[in-house]
Amino acid sequence: MKKYIMALDQGTTSSRCVIYDSKGNSVAFAQKEFKQIFPESGWVEHDPMDIWNSQLQVAKEAMEKGGLKAENIDSIGITNQRETTIVWDKTTGIPVYNAIVWQCRRTSEYCEMLKSKDLEKSWKKKTGLPIDPYFSATKLEWILTNVPEAREKAKEGRLLFGTVDSWLLWNLTGGKVHATDVSNASRTMMYNIEELRWDEDMLDTLGIPKIMLPQVMDSSYIYGTTEEGLFDGPIKIGGIAGDQQAALFGQTCFEEGMAKNTFGTGGFLLINTGSRIVRSTSGMINTIGWKIGEEIKYAIEGSAFVSGASLQWLRDGLKIIDSAPESEELCNSVEDTGGVYLVPAFTGLGAPYWDPYARGLISGLTRGTGIAHVVRAAVESMAYQTWDLIDAAEKDMAHFGRQASEEDISLLPSERPLRVDGGATMNDFLLQFQADILGREVIRPKVIETTSLGAAYLAGLATGYWKDKEEIKQVWQADRVFRPNMDISVRNVKLKGWHEAVERALSGGALKSSD
Ligand code: ADP
Repeated sequence: MKKYIMALDQGTTSSRCVIYDSKGNSVAFAQKEFKQIFPESGWVEHDPMDIWNSQLQVAKEAMEKGGLKAENIDSIGITNQRETTIVWDKTTGIPVYNAIVWQCRRTSEYCEMLKSKDLEKSWKKKTGLPIDPYFSATKLEWILTNVPEAREKAKEGRLLFGTVDSWLLWNLTGGKVHATDVSNASRTMMYNIEELRWDEDMLDTLGIPKIMLPQVMDSSYIYGTTEEGLFDGPIKIGGIAGDQQAALFGQTCFEEGMAKNTFGTGGFLLINTGSRIVRSTSGMINTIGWKIGEEIKYAIEGSAFVSGASLQWLRDGLKIIDSAPESEELCNSVEDTGGVYLVPAFTGLGAPYWDPYARGLISGLTRGTGIAHVVRAAVESMAYQTWDLIDAAEKDMAHFGRQASEEDISLLPSERPLRVDGGATMNDFLLQFQADILGREVIRPKVIETTSLGAAYLAGLATGYWKDKEEIKQVWQADRVFRPNMDISVRNVKLKGWHEAVERALSGGALKSSD
């Protein structure tokens, strides 16, 4: 009987299920959006039952579409929106509060308070993360403080905490397994990524009882089997990873120095740094890529808050295009942007600038500027931001290499290709421009759903569906390689123009003078 792997991809706006065959081909797919809850300005929540129900529904739907039964599914891999925090009752399974989503800024003040206690340096060393509302720890603290009796109940072991993967796993196993994987744990700001354990000091400071935390396991590991009655038979759960790490794995970036960038609403760059934690001086984050048996891989991560979203703005805000895909034809209709730059600092700028007060701008306008120039500038900005992230990461890696022993020089920047995924990678113009600006090859895989593919690989490795990573490398297929084809002097002029535009977008400019 032919067997398949089921990937559950629980994202911020929708739950998806993709079923893969042993060649990595998608044989069935289902997706369901769910409600976003905004109780106050800057707050974002989801109903945990919506998350679970929509995820279960798409799993069943995908099986039905593929004409598959539980016995056809070798195992399930889970990948998920990271950091989002859920607390539920251990006996009833009922959440005590809505899921507090990664985007939610409600704990900004609490984070400022932690920073004022000079905790940032030591916590960053332990967790790889800056103190920020983005991560789970202060969201969990908020629930324990603000939900009546929550802290007492948690201390008595009556409540459980989990990121979305744990919540799904617990429900899939009928409450039998309360666990997470290292990649998700590394986004909670409670997990020591060097020593691979929950950090008691940090938990004490936050008033979080350890008893409520999930057990942290390998990313490729048989966590349990689905509860009776959920499907028409039991299915093993063989893998878990946070979405960006799953994408890195799904791109088969198994060796150190290999990198992937996801072009979605935002842009996410991750570089595998092997068994080493490459500390950053430019605001990049250290995270755990995955752990499989004795092998642990760390990654350096940076993100651009706005990537493809700038095209959504051109579509919905300025209304100068009808759809994002239309941008490609417009980009190709002009020689260049005519000196126009668009800096999409709508919500400030992340790594390596870290300026929350920066604001977007379009510069270099002339009477000759047309819609195509502005659209092309928006698309090019996606590539410039990747350049900035790679440049920052490589400076960190070079610094690390210089300080380390000779054998560590392998971490020094090389002309390695960049693997790309996400919705905007359908845009050939973007990827060619990315290759030109980076001066290195950009590779688009056949399956651009690399997040779910990564979760499937992790599950299939645990059960022996795929023998080893070598076999998976054979499964992964490139669709197209974009080779750099731009004169280095032209590249440098363009980059200089971009950096001048960014300089103007920083808060030293517009905002200060309007104070
Ligand atoms: P997410 O998972 O973050 O929701 P996706 O990976 O689905 O995002 O990608 C959606 C983003 O890609 C949108 O911001 C959209 O503007 C952009 N996008 C989609 N198609 C194209 C295209 N052909 N060219 C450029 N950008 C595109």
